[in-house]
Amino acid sequence: MERTVAFAKVEGEDVEGAVRHAVSLSGGLDRLISSTSRVLVKPNLWSPQRSGTGSITDASVTEAVTKLVLEYGARSVVIGDGCGAGYDGHAWSTDEAFVTSGLRDVANRLGVELRNLNSDAFEEVEIPDARVMDRVKIARTALESDVIISVPVLKSHIRTHVTLSLKNMKGVIAGAEKRKTHRLGLDQAIVDLNRVVCPHFVVLDATMGMQGLWSYPDDCVSIGLVGAGAHALSVDLAGAWLMGIDPNRVMHLRYRAQDEGLPVGLEGIPLVGEPVEAYRAKFKTGFEVFSERYPGVTILQGESACTGCTSELVTALKYLDISGYSPEMAGLHIVLGDVAEVSPAAKLAVLGRCAAAHAPLGVFAGGCPPSEETVIRALCEASHVDPAAVLYTRDRTRRELWDSTRESLEH
Ligand code: SF4
Repeated sequence: MERTVAFAKVEGEDVEGAVRHAVSLSGGLDRLISSTSRVLVKPNLWSPQRSGTGSITDASVTEAVTKLVLEYGARSVVIGDGCGAGYDGHAWSTDEAFVTSGLRDVANRLGVELRNLNSDAFEEVEIPDARVMDRVKIARTALESDVIISVPVLKSHIRTHVTLSLKNMKGVIAGAEKRKTHRLGLDQAIVDLNRVVCPHFVVLDATMGMQGLWSYPDDCVSIGLVGAGAHALSVDLAGAWLMGIDPNRVMHLRYRAQDEGLPVGLEGIPLVGEPVEAYRAKFKTGFEVFSERYPGVTILQGESACTGCTSELVTALKYLDISGYSPEMAGLHIVLGDVAEVSPAAKLAVLGRCAAAHAPLGVFAGGCPPSEETVIRALCEASHVDPAAVLYTRDRTRRELWDSTRESLEH
């Protein structure tokens, strides 16, 4: 398999030009797509977020990829994804993500179908020689596609260090299965999943990346590149390198490299196009940002802790912080996921169904995931602060953000 990874710079606003350039430099799609191909374009839409935030794949990148595919006269083209664990229980989450990200408009403009993979029909697939997950329910759209183009965004990840093209494939599995991957061991489950649905091509949205706790705009990292390649592992290794993250610390990249008999680094990967050394950044991990931003808060996180609880937690902490309650958070212990043992603490909040066994030890926010407001109330109660003030700050911040977004969309 051709391991070339190409990078192209986004000149001005010309995202499409960068996508075309990167794809062409990496070898193009000629060998992959023909008039009989059924193609799935799979962005990262883990939750309803706006394009340009670095949190999800920018709709302009997905649009450029889809346009290219359409030019090959593929038999069918679908843009599909299903929001992440915690956002996958309701059809509207993915549908809302389609609207918020701008992909609904893209699909209308290009005349292609947007498909909510969380509402798709699923088929249980056996994974031979699995590390931890020997069966998984996969969206039929993915199974029936001849070509899957993964279009991840460049991000570090609190559990897996990076989330790139291999991890992006989690969007094609059913909701309960997404939770199962956390329980079984996320990195190993990602590798198992990619044994049966590995992308055939990757376009990496490195226009705006995101580090740490994925808190917008604090954790955004502007890079201004688009990457492309036909070998998913190679693109992910290059992406990790671009973020300044040692791929040896990324277990799913290590496992995958081991399975393919390849080194866990850039050896043997021809990097072409824009000289990426000039763009290399140092993305902070979630825990680095967490301890910088909330030095007095301790997180006790079990293996099953997933994006549902962690995202609501990070949002709630942010609103307590900007409400001026950081001093009150000192000494706060927060439990999420299936933690085995928890010691009593004066200020303790327990989040989500997975951690419910420890509910009697502190203030419990039930649910899977618990709602943002429930988490805010639990953290406030545990820290002895007024939740009304924090909820007021949240609503005001949201209103201001929405007003500025609307203005920028109108101009
Ligand atoms: S309770 Fe929280 S951590 Fe557990 S599965 Fe639900 S959202 Fe994920």
